[in-house]
Amino acid sequence: MIDRSAILEKDREHWLHPLHHPSSHTDPLIFESGHGVWLRTVDGKELIDGLAGLWNVLLGHGNQELAEAAREQMSRLAYCSSYAGSGNLPAIELADRLAGFAYPSLNTTFFTSGGAESNESAFKTVRYYWKRLGKPDKVKVISRQHAYHGITLAAMSATGMTAYWPMFEPRVPGFLHIPAPYPYRYAGDIQPGETVGQAAARALEEAILREGPDTVGAFIAEPVQGAGGVIVPPDDYFPRVREICDRYDVLFIADEVITGFGRTGDWFALRRWGVEPDIMSFAKGITSGYLPLGGIQISDKIREVIMSAPPNERWMHAYTYSGHPTCCAVALKNLEILQRLDLASHAARMGARLLQGLQGLAEEFEIIGDVRGLGLMCAIELVKDRETKEPAGLGEQLRQACIQRGLFTRAIGDIFAFAPPLIISEEEVDRMVAIVGESLAAII
Ligand code: PLP
Repeated sequence: MIDRSAILEKDREHWLHPLHHPSSHTDPLIFESGHGVWLRTVDGKELIDGLAGLWNVLLGHGNQELAEAAREQMSRLAYCSSYAGSGNLPAIELADRLAGFAYPSLNTTFFTSGGAESNESAFKTVRYYWKRLGKPDKVKVISRQHAYHGITLAAMSATGMTAYWPMFEPRVPGFLHIPAPYPYRYAGDIQPGETVGQAAARALEEAILREGPDTVGAFIAEPVQGAGGVIVPPDDYFPRVREICDRYDVLFIADEVITGFGRTGDWFALRRWGVEPDIMSFAKGITSGYLPLGGIQISDKIREVIMSAPPNERWMHAYTYSGHPTCCAVALKNLEILQRLDLASHAARMGARLLQGLQGLAEEFEIIGDVRGLGLMCAIELVKDRETKEPAGLGEQLRQACIQRGLFTRAIGDIFAFAPPLIISEEEVDRMVAIVGESLAAII
């Protein structure tokens, strides 16, 4: 039997956790194992993993095929440099496997170890691209309110969740934030006859014109905003965004760190709107979270600029763990399983069931002001009053009530997010909805 209090003492004394504050770590859940969508704590409590770890454990816990792929590759080759001049088999196979998989014009991959590194790589690629084309002033990046792009300095500066800024400012200059296409709470102006999607796209065009197109290098967006509140854009938003980026020669970076690899019911989220980015960041789901791996895919036109550079203008960008053989071997196995089980379609079906269940709860509970989602990325938003939309201030209480009843997920203020592993069954979806209903009944 594990001595929980001894473990807690070591944890409290010596581990500085992400987003740390002692007040939020008084009685932590310490997980010991998992199977499928279920997590198990050291004191034997079983909970549904309602956010699939941090949106990443697509295949669920305890997948033996992934464990075996890691063991096999690790026992063959620990590591080797991927700097130009050398490489390894799994990374080559994975780059080849990913060519054209997300979008037809993205055929070249640079590997990183996670999402923030991927976005840093994207921003540097934007600078590199415009410098090589003789437009060195195109360095500004337009992002959006509620965006989450990671916590390294430039990624933090692109992040539009302002709570991440104050203790680490000044931010990197040149990152701007425009209103998100947030149908329930749009923060920009809407002209008569305009939809939220049109207004939010207009905000992009206005920002580019205000800054000067010759100074704007890129626009970055998560197809569905995740950490900022599971914000699903209206259907008319991204097609317009693509047109605007083309009109002003602004590269479009899609941050598919959460939405990639089936989460939204398509293999990649922008496909739903018939839109292709110039650069795509990915991470998380590429290995189902079993190992850290991320990357960017770049369009053929960007690849051409890198490949045609003279030696003194080489793409001087590198990470030690770029193309780590074990991470890539696990990613290859993960992709094989995701496709074998057709989990993007399954996510679409389970997501529809989850959304329907949450809509049912909204009929029962006045406190639910909004229900939204795409595939297995859903949320409810709690309000005091449906008219005023004043936040209810009960997100954390609901989270605790759900934990007591066997569901572990995240509250972003009053937004309650659901993104379970894609392998979830109908019964498990129904169980999640039932727990949320019982928990709401208990706290209001
Ligand atoms: N981009 C998005 C959309 C994310 O959700 C995240 C993490 O949640 C990141 C980037 C940063 O990824 P990482 O934490 O692996 O650096």
